[in-house]
Amino acid sequence: MSTNNANGLRIGVDVGGTKIEAVLVSPDGRVLGQARIAARRGNQAVLEDIESVARQAAGERFAEVAAIGIGTPGQVNADTGHVGDIVNLDVVSMDMGPEIAQRTGVDTHVENDVNAAAVGAAALLGGAEGLTGTIALLNFGTGLAAGIVQDGVLLHGYSGAAGEIGHVPVEPHRFKCPCGQYGCLETVASGASVARLWPHADPPMPDLIRRAIRREAEAVDTLDMVMRAIGDAIQILAQSVDPRLIILGGGMAKTGEPLLEVINAELHRREAQCHFLESLNLPARLRLAPVEQPVGAIGAALAA
Ligand SMILES: [Zn+2]
Repeated sequence: MSTNNANGLRIGVDVGGTKIEAVLVSPDGRVLGQARIAARRGNQAVLEDIESVARQAAGERFAEVAAIGIGTPGQVNADTGHVGDIVNLDVVSMDMGPEIAQRTGVDTHVENDVNAAAVGAAALLGGAEGLTGTIALLNFGTGLAAGIVQDGVLLHGYSGAAGEIGHVPVEPHRFKCPCGQYGCLETVASGASVARLWPHADPPMPDLIRRAIRREAEAVDTLDMVMRAIGDAIQILAQSVDPRLIILGGGMAKTGEPLLEVINAELHRREAQCHFLESLNLPARLRLAPVEQPVGAIGAALAA
C-alpha cells in the first residue's frame, strides 16, 4: 500500500470470473459508492467493463479519485500492472494497469485477487490493532493460496509468489495438479477439489460436513482427507510467517461456522500430540472472511 495517495478518494475494482465489482473508498477506508456488472470475455470487453464499473462506483466524484486499485485473477505483475492468463475471461496477456490508467487518467495499481482480498479482510478484521503486525488470508477458491499483509503492506516476495502454498506438493494421495506436480495441497484443499471429491451436493462442503457429523462413512473419510490437507496448509502458513490472524476466505469459507468447527477439531487433534503446536494456539487466530462486504474491491482500493 502506498501512502502518496492517502488523502484522496480511491476506487477498488474486483475482477471475477462472472462479475466485476467496484467501490469508492474514503481515505479512512469507508465505502462511499458501489457498483457491479456482469463480466464479459476478451481484452477489450474486460478493459471497458473495468472502466465503466469504476466510473459508476465513483459517480460525480470521479474527478476527486487519486488512485484506482484492481484485484484480478491470473498471473499479476504488481510492479508493471501486466496480467497474464485470466482463464475465465479469455485474457492471455494484458497491460491492465497502464491501459486503465490511460483510459481514466488516474494512477492504477494491479494486484492478484487473493492479495487484494487479504488487504481488505485484514482491514475489516484487524480489530483495535488495525493493520499492524502480520495478517494472512488463506483463500479456498478454484485453487489454494495465501495473501500476506505486514503492517498494511502486501508481502510479494522476490518473484510475486509469496503465499502460493497451494502448490507445495505434500498431499499423500499424490493427485496430479494442473501445475504439473503431484500431490499439491490444492489438489485436496481447495473449493474446486472438494467439489471433485464430493460431487453429491453444490456447494459440497456444508453437505460433506453434515454427513460426516452423521457418521456416513464416505463423508467421514473424505472430510478427514480434506481437513488433513487444510491443517497442513494452515501449519505451513503459520510456521513460515507466524501471522497474528489467519483469515479463511474464498467460496469454501462461506460454509461459515461449521467449517471453522471442523478445522478447529483438526488443529486440536494435532495440538494434543505436540506441545509446540499447542503453544502456537492457532485456533484462536482463525477468522472467517466477511461475506456481506466487498472485501476484494475494498482491499484493491487500499492496496492502490
Ligand atoms: Zn500444483
